[in-house]
Amino acid sequence: MPKSASWQQCGLLHQRMQLARQHGWYLAAQRLQRDLQQVLARLQGDLQALSNSLESSEETNHTASVHDIYADLIALHEEFDGLSFDRRGQTLSVTTESINLEGITLGPFEICLDWGDLIGGHPNNYRVIAIDAHPAATNDSVTHPHVQDEAVCEGEGRQPIRRAQEQGRLLDFFMIVANLLRTYNSGSPYVSLADWHGVECADCGTTMHGSDRWTCERCDATTCGDCYYSCSNCDGIYCGECSTSCEECGERQCQSCIDVCSGCIGEFCRDCLQENERCSDCHDKTNEIAESNSSPECDHPLASVQPHGVGQTAVPA
Ligand SMILES: [Zn+2]
Ligand SMILES: [Zn+2]
Ligand SMILES: [Zn+2]
Ligand SMILES: [Zn+2]
Ligand SMILES: [Zn+2]
Repeated sequence: MPKSASWQQCGLLHQRMQLARQHGWYLAAQRLQRDLQQVLARLQGDLQALSNSLESSEETNHTASVHDIYADLIALHEEFDGLSFDRRGQTLSVTTESINLEGITLGPFEICLDWGDLIGGHPNNYRVIAIDAHPAATNDSVTHPHVQDEAVCEGEGRQPIRRAQEQGRLLDFFMIVANLLRTYNSGSPYVSLADWHGVECADCGTTMHGSDRWTCERCDATTCGDCYYSCSNCDGIYCGECSTSCEECGERQCQSCIDVCSGCIGEFCRDCLQENERCSDCHDKTNEIAESNSSPECDHPLASVQPHGVGQTAVPA
């Protein structure tokens, strides 16, 4: 018998049974009730079989049963020190151990899941809160290389986290997020571990906490806002070692732009070198020598004193 027919039969038997009762035909009503119970039992069996076949064909859309969730809560309790449950706030939280990455202590983190919207809420339905925050020196809102403003950069974990939430697999969700916190991906941090405690200025040595830092275009050294120089010729940014002040005008220029006087080997900007590639001092000296060299030879004092014939040997004929 088709399933829809079973259902129609139920309706019909129910109608007749009520009619029999209204007329006081109790015996007939009893028989109809027995028949109705038989049809209902068959219909329930059919529905259960249909439900089972749907579940096995849609294994991927499996959602956790009450039993699964209970087992997950037990496992979470064993896996994490702190498991807390806020019915009013609709949140479930676990707390990790203190996280230490490459020698840097970041402290424990609370992973707080809002189960109010598990299906569509990802990734805004959970937060990662630093319990004993050791934020990056350069940015207080970065409490972990992959956590900013309590949100995790999920990277490749995005799909697995989303699926675990959609299917209500609580243990998997918390384990994936905790493992993200336990690993460091140097390719995509908000702040790299190397810079976690701030960066020292290559010139004066102070630790820079803000974003006022400059990178030398020649040697890649990082300097603070007080120690960087902008070349007045090419506008490039340089550290103290890679730039020099012109000995004449004081303009700071990079080593590619500054020139050397061919006379005194001092460093000068091009504007301060004369046409002969010499600084003005060396240029003036050259001119003085040139002037003295061009004076007439008869002025030479020795020429008039030197007696004629002195030192000459007479050669016998
Ligand atoms: Zn400095
Ligand atoms: Zn430099
Ligand atoms: Zn100059
Ligand atoms: Zn330059
Ligand atoms: Zn010179």
